[in-house]
Amino acid sequence: MPLVPATPEAIEQAAEALARGDIVAFPTETVYGLGANALDARAVARVFVAKGRSSTKPLAVLVPGLSKVEDFADVNAAARKLAEAFWPGPLTLVLPKRQDCPLAEAVSAGLNTIAVRAPDHAVAQALLAKSGLSIVAPSANRSGKVSPKTAAEVEAELGDRPAMILDGGPSPLGRESTIVSLVGPAPTLLRQGALPREAVEDILGQKLVFASAAVQP
Ligand code: AMP
Ligand code: MG
Repeated sequence: MPLVPATPEAIEQAAEALARGDIVAFPTETVYGLGANALDARAVARVFVAKGRSSTKPLAVLVPGLSKVEDFADVNAAARKLAEAFWPGPLTLVLPKRQDCPLAEAVSAGLNTIAVRAPDHAVAQALLAKSGLSIVAPSANRSGKVSPKTAAEVEAELGDRPAMILDGGPSPLGRESTIVSLVGPAPTLLRQGALPREAVEDILGQKLVFASAAVQP
């Protein structure tokens, strides 16, 4: 059975599984994520297969903080302000992808942008710290289904597709992250989620543009 309590030992095992190229489900403060090493093309491909997700949809990348993001995306002033105000937390930033970005191509699904977030959850943070990896982590459900808020919901959705499902209790927020793109001429709201858009606007000192065709989870 892949479902285990998220003890320090289990988190250690999950970090090793990620380093081997396996996929692992774990809690974040928004919803449960299905994680893989973002640098490992085969591991990232496993996430798409396990979810039944179209390869045209990009994946967000979980990081411990902004300094890691600089390896693969351009961190502009607005990104710095928002990360300082809201990370770790339920805000995903879409940034220009660096030319020398080492992440697996499939992560950005052919786009020249990368979505990044620092999660505010002890289990997700421990997994990032233990593994030292950047971790792609779309919600741990089959494509088109509701995002899971508990480990039991992940198991019902994905069965034994993940090598492990870390049970860290219900996700505290139980909602997706808010997604803001800082790529174009104006900051753009791609998805309204757990962080109110007004909070983002207050920090930026300007209104967010609404995306006409936001990328759906
Ligand atoms: P979640 O893990 O649900 O917060 O998922 C992140 C969301 O960001 C998903 O809906 C992705 O489709 C979206 N996303 C990931 N990468 C990008 C990108 N480069 N540009 C726009 N949206 C993205
Ligand atoms: Mg989802």
